[in-house]
Amino acid sequence: MYVGHAALALALKARDPRVPIVPLALACYGPDWLDVALMLPHPRAGMAPFTHSIPAVIVGGLVASVLFAVFAKGPGALLVLLGWLSHWPADFFTGRKPIVGLTPLVGLDLYRVPLADLALESFVVLVCCALYARAMAHTSGQRWLVLAMGTLLVVLQLGIDATITSADPTLWHPSLAEAARRTHLVSAPRVRTSLAPQCRVSTASASWSRMNRMNV
Ligand SMILES: [Zn+2]
Repeated sequence: MYVGHAALALALKARDPRVPIVPLALACYGPDWLDVALMLPHPRAGMAPFTHSIPAVIVGGLVASVLFAVFAKGPGALLVLLGWLSHWPADFFTGRKPIVGLTPLVGLDLYRVPLADLALESFVVLVCCALYARAMAHTSGQRWLVLAMGTLLVVLQLGIDATITSADPTLWHPSLAEAARRTHLVSAPRVRTSLAPQCRVSTASASWSRMNRMNV
């Protein structure tokens, strides 16, 4: 998710206007900042479990929350934690993210369907801006400012989705779990070739009754 994270920061700010917006925005994009940091000084593959897996998001959120509590010395540590934690479910809709390790990756992968991504992120912006306006905008001027901010976010998202329109839609691969077949049997059971004892008994009994009928 791109601008949706910024919109979520606005919604968190609306929960407690005393908390500054900058640490909330930093927290909402937290795993992405870690991604950028791990790509320095040169890109490395396989870093997603350290930034975007569920354990990594929980640990990152707790560390950010403690750092905020220690250095900012004001209310908002819980909102910082919530902002960081919101990253995984938000990214779940737009991409495919690790649960613990590199596989499986789960998510709806809407980046491959830019129109759907634009609709989703615009909806998130609309809802979050409405929450922000209700809590923070008390004059018509402030409401216009919120409207301008929301419009700017949607236009920004439009530009981002326009650039990823070239993404091959045939690669769209939403996934909630990996489908895989696994047998319960290590090896195939041995088939008996000789006649089973009960079959021999029933054959003998059929011959006996046939002889009785013939009065032999
Ligand atoms: Zn992310």
